[in-house]
Amino acid sequence: MASSYYIGRFAPAPSGPLHFGSIIAALGSFLQAKSQGGEWLVRIEDSDRFRAVQGATDLILDTLEQLGLTWDRDIVVQSKREARYREELERLQSINMVYPCACTRSETRGKPYPGTCRRNGVPRTRRDRSLRIRTDNTVIEFNDAVTGLFSQSLEKDVGDFVIKRKDGMTAYHLAVVIDDADQGVTEVVRGADLIESTPRQIYLQRLLHYPTPGYLHLPVAIDANGRKISKQNNAPGIDPGQAARVITNALEFLGQQPDPQLADATAEDVIKWGIDHWDIRQIPAGEYRPPGEQ
Ligand code: GLU
Repeated sequence: MASSYYIGRFAPAPSGPLHFGSIIAALGSFLQAKSQGGEWLVRIEDSDRFRAVQGATDLILDTLEQLGLTWDRDIVVQSKREARYREELERLQSINMVYPCACTRSETRGKPYPGTCRRNGVPRTRRDRSLRIRTDNTVIEFNDAVTGLFSQSLEKDVGDFVIKRKDGMTAYHLAVVIDDADQGVTEVVRGADLIESTPRQIYLQRLLHYPTPGYLHLPVAIDANGRKISKQNNAPGIDPGQAARVITNALEFLGQQPDPQLADATAEDVIKWGIDHWDIRQIPAGEYRPPGEQ
């Protein structure tokens, strides 16, 4: 089939096993692609080598397979793509949109970045430098398929942001934008915790003359203490031995109403039901607890 129709993706960081929050992003992006006859790609976002945990990639891929979430095309791994990121960084440098910054973390805490190094240059005594992209006061707007219109002025709300870190790694926003463009992703489906990142990514897409994909931000699962269920918060991995149950819970979390007759079904059947009945109008916006979390 031609690749010009729908291409979606799931882009986990290999910082631990898949937990309920990441299953939501995996299942939501999978169903959105498959219900439209599209392709679903998996990309391992290990550009932050400090967060990567040995063995996590294999664990994530095994879990996806056990759940029946199988991907199309080869897996892309960010740590192998540095040469490509460098190429695109040079394009941004050639249009004079990038400058070095030596501000420390404590100097930049709290948004937006006030542009200290843009104005004053980098003090000679400071060796460690990140690279920042210049922003302006254009209001960037996009229409999210679940949460509706979202807008942000980068200069006012974020400031010039880092695209290459002091440790030499390509920062998340730049890597994700290059990867999505190179993979031909037509719609990004991910957790609503990333919605505020989207205008920065659209800004980079415009500077690099990439098409802007559609965006759909899924509700974020929070625990009983109101914290996002995430690897950083030590959320437990899900039990792939209970694949059908896990998928059913995730469908319910996404506002779908799986047929009670699926109680004894296989994961494959539940997924098939999900593809046939997927309805994004039922997806709740915002944050809330998975069924069963007290
Ligand atoms: N790698 C990010 C995460 O694990 C997701 C990035 C994205 O979907 O754009 O939270």
